[in-house]
Amino acid sequence: MSPLDDLSAARAAIAACCARAGGLCVLTGAGMSAESGIPTFRDALTGLWARFDPMELASVEGFRADPARVWRWYAERREGVRSAQPNAGHRALAAFDRRHPGVLVLVTQNVDDLHQRAGHAGVLRLHGDILQQAWLGRCVAWQRGDPECDPTRAEPGDPPRCAECGNLVRPGVVWFGESLPADALDRAEQAAADCAVMLVVGTSGAVWPAAGLAEQARRHAAKVIIVNPASSEIDDQARWLLRGTAAEVLPSLLDPL
Ligand code: NAD
Repeated sequence: MSPLDDLSAARAAIAACCARAGGLCVLTGAGMSAESGIPTFRDALTGLWARFDPMELASVEGFRADPARVWRWYAERREGVRSAQPNAGHRALAAFDRRHPGVLVLVTQNVDDLHQRAGHAGVLRLHGDILQQAWLGRCVAWQRGDPECDPTRAEPGDPPRCAECGNLVRPGVVWFGESLPADALDRAEQAAADCAVMLVVGTSGAVWPAAGLAEQARRHAAKVIIVNPASSEIDDQARWLLRGTAAEVLPSLLDPL
């Protein structure tokens, strides 16, 4: 089949599940936001930060070893997210959701808020939110139930700290070795098991358990569509591989429906 035949066949599969609540499960990764100017995980490790191992930038151990370096890396990424805008791919998904309420369940590995700013409500976020802050451990004040013990009121610094006990503030993202938010993961696994079509956009399929959702969907007889300009580790799950970018492929795939 030619790439155009694949696009038409994938569109027909999505059209066929439009009448069914939860018929379409969409899983997005960093490539979804690449055309908004937010680097993918691999790109983010090039340039200034190329000399660091991801484990140093995205793990509790790395943060404890050098909190200032990790905090500044996230501060830079947070500024990038704040100044980015949703791209045509985010907009195509949100517009499809408005035309077919209840059909699409959107699961993202992204820690940016571009799906939400494109108008998508109820996104299942597997890896947290870079714009949020959390305590690294438990503060003395938090343990005695002090409502003022809030990471957004911490003493400013790189990173901010609890004025009372020195506990550090960390970014509100899931790091390597940490559990995913249980509710979001349960609902994502349920959506993968229930859908008729899973559309995977812009993920390398290298980060688990998110990468396992495509296999889970296929085992439950869903048709898997992958949108990615390059190959990924989960290409063998795909019925249709649409080789192109999110902002190119998603409008042509979804806008006619
Ligand atoms: P990844 O960096 O491992 O893989 C990105 C994938 O996107 C690659 O397969 C690449 O070929 C593809 N890609 C690149 N440009 C694309 C485009 N324009 N359209 C479609 N696909 C494109 O990212 P991942 O698989 O999401 O896993 C890394 C983890 O890093 C994620 O879990 C996520 O939490 C985190 N992360 C998030 C963001 C964000 O929130 N925007 C950015 C970087 C990393």
